[in-house]
Amino acid sequence: MIYIVPNMKRIPKEILIAELQRIAREQKLDSISKTTLAKYSTIGRKSFKTSFGSWNNAVIAAGLKPNLAVQPSGYKRAKIPLHLRDAVTKRDNHRCCICHASPATDPNIELQFDHIYPVSKGGTTTYDNLWLLCDKCNRAKLNYTPLEIMAMAKWHLMKCAEREEQLKGAKKRPFDPADHFQKMLKLAQKEL
Ligand SMILES: [Zn+2]
Repeated sequence: MIYIVPNMKRIPKEILIAELQRIAREQKLDSISKTTLAKYSTIGRKSFKTSFGSWNNAVIAAGLKPNLAVQPSGYKRAKIPLHLRDAVTKRDNHRCCICHASPATDPNIELQFDHIYPVSKGGTTTYDNLWLLCDKCNRAKLNYTPLEIMAMAKWHLMKCAEREEQLKGAKKRPFDPADHFQKMLKLAQKEL
């Protein structure tokens, strides 16, 4: 057991890590919750948040499994600000990023903002972590592994960035998707 000097403002990270490892060792645990900490330690959970940013960060730093039973603070799905919605919609061309369905051509299509890396696992509400999906693809996502989803999203974002670049660089001659597609087709045919 570590006894902390009351006026010690910030407990060194090494001590905090050692404390978590001690509890894990003594209680034979591979993950520690805040409740377990309160039971077996004199160090308050705030000290861990101050030093590591979050409880789970501290647990991971101690070489233990992240504490998934306890939702990290700020888990509640953040509202997507309007400017972000606009930017993502524009970037994704008002289409589903997986099947390319658009409400413009099919009124039954409902587009949704989806977090590429889930909020429940620490994903953020940022431009790079959001994409548009139709409700069908959003539901079907459960059939993909997280790795496959990340790969699809990475490819999509890369293509969007390429298009942005082309739009910026082609002031004299506007980017023509049909022309671009023809070029891609020719290249693909050459490959075959
Ligand atoms: Zn779709």
